[in-house]
Amino acid sequence: MSFDYDLFVIGGGSGGVRAARVAAQGGAKVALAEEDRYGGTCVIRGCVPKKLMVFASEFPDAIADAAEYGWTVHAGGFDWSAFKTKLHAELDRLENVYRGILKNNGVETYDARAKVIGAHEVELSDGTRKSAKHILLAMGGRPVLPDQEGAELGITSNDIFHLDELPKKILIIGGGYIACEFACILNGLGVDVTQYYRGAQILRGFDGEARGHVSDEMISNGIKLHLGTNIAQMTRGEGGIDVTATNGDTQMFDQVMFATGRAPNTDDMGLEAVGIELGRKGEVLVDDYSQTKVPSIYAIGDVTDRVNLTPVAIREGMAFVETVFNGNPTPVDHELIPTAIFTQPEMGTVGLSEEDAREQEPIEVYSTSFKPMQTAFAGRSGRVLMKLIVSKANRKVLGCHIVAPGAGEMIQLAGIAVKMGATKEDFDRTVAVHPTMSEELVTMKEPQIRQ
Ligand code: NDP
Repeated sequence: MSFDYDLFVIGGGSGGVRAARVAAQGGAKVALAEEDRYGGTCVIRGCVPKKLMVFASEFPDAIADAAEYGWTVHAGGFDWSAFKTKLHAELDRLENVYRGILKNNGVETYDARAKVIGAHEVELSDGTRKSAKHILLAMGGRPVLPDQEGAELGITSNDIFHLDELPKKILIIGGGYIACEFACILNGLGVDVTQYYRGAQILRGFDGEARGHVSDEMISNGIKLHLGTNIAQMTRGEGGIDVTATNGDTQMFDQVMFATGRAPNTDDMGLEAVGIELGRKGEVLVDDYSQTKVPSIYAIGDVTDRVNLTPVAIREGMAFVETVFNGNPTPVDHELIPTAIFTQPEMGTVGLSEEDAREQEPIEVYSTSFKPMQTAFAGRSGRVLMKLIVSKANRKVLGCHIVAPGAGEMIQLAGIAVKMGATKEDFDRTVAVHPTMSEELVTMKEPQIRQ
């Protein structure tokens, strides 16, 4: 049977574009459909614009510190509109880079929505049908508003990059990556930030001590973080949104941002009709090789809701190409993924939390918290945390958790050692780089005594 294409990719985000490019470079005839902008969540409404906003938000502290270091500085104000114009110009540039990657590698693109209508067939929004030997689902995910009255008055992370003006006062709901990152960004940009999280501590699932450290620093930086709190009622008031919290508190906010989770983009895609199984959240269920229940159809990235991180989607895309086009079945390795949460200070983490490790086996915990030289000199009270979780049985470092400026950069490197199976003694015999914050990772001698 002959097909129009060897591979048809649905979704032009990081995972889909990578898979399309690599398959095409290997000689496959590839097409890709994207209904929105090329680059997907990461480039257009996620990691990239978020990180640029993180940079923008860090200047007030840097300027204040400069004065402490003897510089004559005048902070002035933040011009959101100027920043936004530049930000979107950068996103346009990056989108063109993504389009260029596809074009230069011979991938045919369709600026259209595509849905699956058979094991080897997709239909574009103009009604055209295309056949392919393999179909790759890479539609990603989207933020969702909670199912509660008044939620439609709120915004999500998708909207934040398009605001005409920065709110003076915002309420952020949630305690995950997105809620905490935007609480810190907006606080840094001078917005009055209140954050409600329904649980006992933000960043559920991460190391308890590290979560507590981030939360303490966020509060001391001025974020009004209310734990065990949610919205009881929200209504449109005169000049803002009136919110009553579950703790009885009533306040008006210019904006309410929900960062209460994301959902896979599988609605109205024709997936179940062709035999693809979806999970409880609507995610595409796949095996270790990203193959769905329909053998010719694979899925990667956030649409599978495995580990929703850009570099993981890219790896899943590469493993798919290796498996399907290079005859080398390659399962995706989801073990020991280093990750960073771009709060202020950042948190970088790889491996097990103290709590999870303790459930698994006897451990030793090495942990230190201190005021880093750079900001302590400027009179700031902020502290950083360096922590290692070590197996008592084989001395391997099971987890490394860093809360500090630049923790994202540090954990990338510590992640290599942990992934290689480094022991505490391997860390110890590595000479410290002095004076740095991360040298503490190789100089902690005594385990903490914990009950
Ligand atoms: P998360 O699932 O991480 O967090 C959602 C938060 O909202 C949780 O704190 C959850 O509480 C809370 N929540 C859920 N439903 C409700 C509700 N009805 N009312 C009140 N609170 C609610 O989602 P995010 O949107 O923050 O991030 C999605 C994913 O995107 C992340 O898991 C991550 O994989 C990725 N990401 C990665 C980044 C990075 O690498 N730096 C940055 C941003 C996103 P509870 O804990 O009680 O369930």
